[in-house]
Amino acid sequence: MRKRLTVLTVGCKASFADSAGIIRNAAAAGFEVVPNGEPADVLFINGCTVTHRADRDNRALARRARRDNPDAVLIMSGCFPATASESVRAGLPEVDHWLSKTDTELTPLLKRLTNGDEHGGPISDYRADRILGHKRTFLKIQDGCDSRCAYCIVPLARGSHRSVSGDEIVSRAIASEKDGATEFLLTGIHIGRYGIERNETDGLASLVRRLLKETTKPRFRLGSIEPLELTPSLLSIFSETDRLCPHLHIPMQSGSDPVLTRMRRPYASSQFLDAVAAAKEAASGIRIGADVLVGFPGESRDDFEATLAVVDAAGIDYLHVFPYSARPGTESALWRDDISSVLKKERVSAMTDLDLRLRSGFLERLTGRLLDVLVQRSNPDEGTVSGVTEYGVDAQFIGNPEMLCRMVSVRIESTSGQRLFGRLEVPHA
Ligand code: SF4
Repeated sequence: MRKRLTVLTVGCKASFADSAGIIRNAAAAGFEVVPNGEPADVLFINGCTVTHRADRDNRALARRARRDNPDAVLIMSGCFPATASESVRAGLPEVDHWLSKTDTELTPLLKRLTNGDEHGGPISDYRADRILGHKRTFLKIQDGCDSRCAYCIVPLARGSHRSVSGDEIVSRAIASEKDGATEFLLTGIHIGRYGIERNETDGLASLVRRLLKETTKPRFRLGSIEPLELTPSLLSIFSETDRLCPHLHIPMQSGSDPVLTRMRRPYASSQFLDAVAAAKEAASGIRIGADVLVGFPGESRDDFEATLAVVDAAGIDYLHVFPYSARPGTESALWRDDISSVLKKERVSAMTDLDLRLRSGFLERLTGRLLDVLVQRSNPDEGTVSGVTEYGVDAQFIGNPEMLCRMVSVRIESTSGQRLFGRLEVPHA
């Protein structure tokens, strides 16, 4: 009987893409890969370390996984083991193997666990994502980062920038489309640098064009992209096709120039504003979100007000608000002008309130529009389904579970909370 393997994930979209990579490798090595919750012989926790909370979640998940699977081999992979000290590892005896470099250590470990006598076959990214419970497909195009933002642990955890070859990405997209993929999210850590080490000019734009050409129907969505990497060539694609979702997520972090400099971000607030304006000009009606890091060391009331003002001036449609948390090993963790937790909480709360207002305002503007929805969830008791629109917001409508994973057209009729409500107009072929 084949050994059963499952993967649990803590973290961002890049972490989920890594989990899908573990699943693809495990299937090729001969494991039966099962969804989370089913009994397994081998259990991966693909852990994150971007905040204190993520570290805590990894530990809690490892302890629960060990309780529920006393005989399983428990493996910790991802960003967490890449930076975990000996004492952190010693504090988690539940873990049998720590994979610090998943890139190189995964295949030999899988071989050891099957004694090399199992043989499997490849599965597509789409299938791997389905096992993880996702209806869209995360296509990881690069890993690592060569920047050194003062607060960021990611380059330490993930190493230098490296791009996946265009041929590999395209063939994985084609295989996934054959299996039923209807949406790809191009993800990574610093996707705007795609191809730079091969001296490709505008590598990301070329890759997107190639993917659009070599696949037929699926739509593509860009993962988070730095403001200075929104090149004219990349932005022009929005007007060339309706298969690139009109949705961008741009890390802004602060609207105060002194704070941006201290963070070692490579732009001033005026350049962030220019980048957003260029995106809006290139793709009318595009939805633009931004990351904001609140309570960075030394952030004054004026700095915070400057961030609110830039969010407003840029016309941002939603925010991801992160309270600053010092990560050991980063430059800013050594600074002594951390702001008080009371002040941080106050600012996070003000920024979160603003985010809710921005989100609602954007949803209102979609009322009456016909949107393409990738159906992701079904609620048979209510007779409804819901899924993600090209703008990245959820829409709910009357439908049945057979619609899951399909793309359908929905006329938006109303909004409530952070959700759109509509009626099915065209089931796509
Ligand atoms: S925040 Fe800065 S250092 Fe961290 S991944 Fe992004 S660009 Fe790289």
